[in-house]
Amino acid sequence: MKTDKSNILALLRDSRDYVSGQQLCDQFGVSRTAVWKAINQLKEEGYRIDAVSHKGYRLLKSPDVLSRSEILSRLKTKWAGRQLFYLEETGSTNIDATRYAEEGEPHGTTVVAEKQNAGRGRRGKYWESPPGTAIYMTIMLKPDFAPDKASMLTLVMALSVAEAVTEATGLHAGIKWPNDVVVNKKKICGILTELNAEMDYIRHVVIGVGINVNNAAPEEFPEEIRQTATSLKIETGLSISRAALIERVLERFEHNYDTFVTTLDLRLLIEAYSRHLLNLNAEVNVLDPKGNYTGIARGISTTGELLVEAENGVMKTVYAGEVSVRGLYGYV
Ligand code: ATP
Repeated sequence: MKTDKSNILALLRDSRDYVSGQQLCDQFGVSRTAVWKAINQLKEEGYRIDAVSHKGYRLLKSPDVLSRSEILSRLKTKWAGRQLFYLEETGSTNIDATRYAEEGEPHGTTVVAEKQNAGRGRRGKYWESPPGTAIYMTIMLKPDFAPDKASMLTLVMALSVAEAVTEATGLHAGIKWPNDVVVNKKKICGILTELNAEMDYIRHVVIGVGINVNNAAPEEFPEEIRQTATSLKIETGLSISRAALIERVLERFEHNYDTFVTTLDLRLLIEAYSRHLLNLNAEVNVLDPKGNYTGIARGISTTGELLVEAENGVMKTVYAGEVSVRGLYGYV
């Protein structure tokens, strides 16, 4: 639910000119004092708001804050992120989202944190999560389809992040199958999907997304990922509003998810996914616990597996669960 503060912020952001106090009162059905209080709170949070008597209020500058009101004031989605939890610091937003699911929060509930102390990746890997520069968010879903469909949601999210980053920066954001979003051959985003299910019934799914946004220099990443990790700021030289990017990711995800559920496979999304797929027709090294092999990636199946043409011409279907894919001479 939007608060008075986030409603007022949204209206100020959308109007170029001054908005009178009376207009704010009438529009949201609140008192003059409530408007005055909300404006003061926004100023304390770092917003620069000009107040002129007889004219009203005008927003001059927003800080890159990740408050609940900043995100809600931008949100245009129907269900994604409509129930929003914002945490200054947490262990992992996936764990928080799981708890909210168990407490009965609805489909689409989203958790955003400024800092994670135990950010996780696939198969016990970690996600480096410093404060103040990046996005750590998890969207929780309560779908009514069978558990075997859930792994495709990782690809739906990868597509949504790649689209949102491309829209927000003009950079071409690529996808390294299945779930890494890559700019200029380096990773800017990781996605971790976790499923809580019975044999034939999904209780809930959480999809965690970490995006490196305003990390200023490669030295800010730990040594072991400095060659493979980057941020949007490093690649563009510009700071990007994290709240605006969160809103775009949620908007793209809502659209792509609603498309996905019409067929319960990726047939309507495969073309868009393939436009971002960096591995397409590229040589890949499949790191499989049962034995590594190389081949040429020919795209994905409608259920999200990578199709790899092995050296003997046989087409192999690669399932995301156990393997990692690398370029032949580097990360992509
Ligand atoms: P990969 O193919 O890169 O190993 P994965 O899909 O198997 O990725 P993920 O869960 O997506 O695994 O990512 C975890 C890995 O990403 C870590 O092992 C680490 O190498 C790298 N990593 C951790 N934090 C970051 C970060 N903030 N930015 C970029 N890369 C990171």
